[in-house]
Amino acid sequence: MSKRLPLIAGNWKMNNNHLEAIALVQKLAFALNDKDYDAAEVVVLPPFTDLRSVQTLVDGDKLRIGYGAQDLSAHDKGAYTGEISGAMLAKLDCAYVLVGHSERREYHNEDDALVNAKIKAAFKNDIVPLLCVGEGLDVRKSGRQVEHVLSQLDGALKEIPVEQAERIVVAYEPVWAIGTGEVATPADAQEVCSAIRARLAELYSADVADKVRVLYGGSVKGDNAPGIMAERDVDGALVGGACLKADEFVKVIRYGE
Ligand code: PEP
Repeated sequence: MSKRLPLIAGNWKMNNNHLEAIALVQKLAFALNDKDYDAAEVVVLPPFTDLRSVQTLVDGDKLRIGYGAQDLSAHDKGAYTGEISGAMLAKLDCAYVLVGHSERREYHNEDDALVNAKIKAAFKNDIVPLLCVGEGLDVRKSGRQVEHVLSQLDGALKEIPVEQAERIVVAYEPVWAIGTGEVATPADAQEVCSAIRARLAELYSADVADKVRVLYGGSVKGDNAPGIMAERDVDGALVGGACLKADEFVKVIRYGE
């Protein structure tokens, strides 16, 4: 039985300027203690413009809070106006990068091929991709959620070698639960998270499947986190709205208490 350290990641989305970012990370750091950091890895995913400030704060105060970005370019460098490369994120010591968030898939037409290219760009720069997969309401209503998510997973992991695959983090985020207040039941989360782990075993090995952390995301808050996190194949949470208030995010981080 593996001892996967739970990961609680806060996706700030397009919220907080660089000064607000410092205030929020400071509040979080003030509230958290060694016991919290031993029980779960805590990561924040601020907008690009906040990363330098967060890096300076984390380094300066030797905080045990990790950080990463919400997206990256599939390209290395060049004439791609507005894009941010993996190398630029690595220079800011980003440990993680979100790839394939449903808002990127929906508003920026990101498909599985682009998600796959971004995963490759992240690994090329030694950044761990936090891959988001999840079905929309129509798919859920038709009962094809597992099939849909596994197809996204297969597409995202195309040509990803085993030594990279075992480091990836997968977040199951049903689109109908993101920002809606409508959280999946623990059983819903477990059904898809366990299917993701089984597919990783098929694609790679039981050892890889045992190492990869599979998170749930979608309207996670302090009060529903314990139930979802109690499921065997759920290794953490990707938190949107509830991570913007330090006290609510701390409640999610302390789901086990
Ligand atoms: C998200 O954006 O990844 C997310 C899970 O958002 P929320 O928690 O607000 O549903």
